[in-house]
Amino acid sequence: MAKVLIIGAGGVGQVVTHKCAQVPEVFSEIVLASRTEDKCRRIAAQLGRPIATAQLDADDVAQTTALIEREKPALVINVALPYQDLAIMDACLATGVDYLDTANYEPRDTARFEYGWQWAYHDRYRSRGLMALLGSGFDPGATNVFTAYLAKHHFDTIEELDIIDCNAGEHGQPFATNFNPEINIREVTSAGRYWDDGRWQATEPLAVNRMFDFPEGIGPRKIYLLYHEELESIVKNFPTLRRARFWMTFSDNYLNHLRVLGNVGMTSIRPVTYQGQEIVPLQFLKALLPDPSSLGPLTKGRTCIGCLVRGRRGGREKLAFVYNICDHEASYREVGAQAISYTTGVPAMIGAKLMLTGKWRGDGVFNLEQFDPDPFMEDMNRHGLPWTVVTPEAPMA
Ligand code: NDP
Repeated sequence: MAKVLIIGAGGVGQVVTHKCAQVPEVFSEIVLASRTEDKCRRIAAQLGRPIATAQLDADDVAQTTALIEREKPALVINVALPYQDLAIMDACLATGVDYLDTANYEPRDTARFEYGWQWAYHDRYRSRGLMALLGSGFDPGATNVFTAYLAKHHFDTIEELDIIDCNAGEHGQPFATNFNPEINIREVTSAGRYWDDGRWQATEPLAVNRMFDFPEGIGPRKIYLLYHEELESIVKNFPTLRRARFWMTFSDNYLNHLRVLGNVGMTSIRPVTYQGQEIVPLQFLKALLPDPSSLGPLTKGRTCIGCLVRGRRGGREKLAFVYNICDHEASYREVGAQAISYTTGVPAMIGAKLMLTGKWRGDGVFNLEQFDPDPFMEDMNRHGLPWTVVTPEAPMA
């Protein structure tokens, strides 16, 4: 039985709060804090049990430290934005409380995706006997665990990994992102990068694509190569991997809008002066786009996110694909949010549950593939993200 402090009352925060509230035997008390406390109160009103709410600017370490000292949680779940990661990790260190997040730290002024800043906290967390779990969403998160699960149960060595993320849902809006628009567009417009023969290879943004035939009736879709943060930790923790890539589906409509917005400078993160005031074009664009939480009641269809691994078992080459399919409308019925928030929020709750029950424990800063994948996989089946493994004889794509 433990008290948890959840920071961030956006789409993902809503799902984590619902899912923690469904497991009172672990999360006996919940405090939800965010920059706008009204959003916390709105989520609290949806739940069948009381939780506390608070106003917090998590960029301010002193404010977060004071809130943690007042509430005394056993764990902080950070589902605010990647910009807050280091400030919240500092507050957890100052107060001696464990930490979990779903996205690596990003500085506001450069779209750089790397764990270096957070891994640098390892010795400080270890010497204080604290644990930080990084990237406990779906991708990163479940994809790290999927890789570890296949490596443990299906292969002697793993050699090639393709993480494939398909949102086959439709929301009917001309252009919208399914999680925070600023973070999403920074990621998608960055250069592609993948691991090949022991080094990183770079590509122009979205320059490489191919078709992939998704299971269970989703069918063939075009997938685009992106850089995604879990590649960095996975190639470090599975050194037998010769190649590791990340792919995502985008509709032609989404890409056309993005191209035009990019051409006119609206996706830039470099400040410009407009009528005497400095504005960041991408932040202004975010203010115009639909709030991802408003897509919940509109989105129909399914997501399919999985890991395709090639490796060796008993001296023979083998292929295995592990995936989850999540239905947008079913997610909305359960927790009032679409499947992108759902597939992120459920693994955040599971990571927190495994830390609080001592099933996953270590002193220092960790990524999910460093722990036994089995309890996490069991909890995915139990808490709304069931998965399937197929071992095709022929290549799938
Ligand atoms: P939203 O923009 O919907 O929500 C973010 C919330 O954080 C908002 O409620 C916002 O408050 C709050 N917030 C922002 N800045 C601060 C601050 N300084 N102090 C306190 N609260 C703050 O984003 P999502 O819910 O879509 O995403 C949340 C996180 O999940 C992001 O880090 C995102 O990268 C990550 N993510 C991870 C995925 C994965 O699979 N691993 C997939 C999708 C998302 P306010 O509304 O008042 O501004």
